[in-house]
Amino acid sequence: MDSKVEADFDYRIGKKYIKRGPSFGEALAHEILGHGVPDVKGQAGFKQEDAIQMTNVYLRSQGEMNIYRDGGQHARTGHLDPEIAKGIPPMYQGVIGALRLMKWLR
Ligand SMILES: [Zn+2]
Repeated sequence: MDSKVEADFDYRIGKKYIKRGPSFGEALAHEILGHGVPDVKGQAGFKQEDAIQMTNVYLRSQGEMNIYRDGGQHARTGHLDPEIAKGIPPMYQGVIGALRLMKWLR
């Protein structure tokens, strides 16, 4: 994700797309927790969905309960089903409490 780019068909409020780009904290959550950690842990089959899900976990941590990213403009992801996009990657489901610390990433 280029943190300076605003996407036209990726962030949604319900079914409507809004033009939006990530904050610094959101980019960290997406890139480090969504892409980097699974890669470092050797999960060769890690999914691009993990990064979109971590974006959405981050947005919720900031109180953005209506906005979510569906991955429509994310490499190789395509538009995810909302339920998948709003999920938590399997590798973080055992440490959901720790994800609450993301509220401090801004
Ligand atoms: Zn990404």
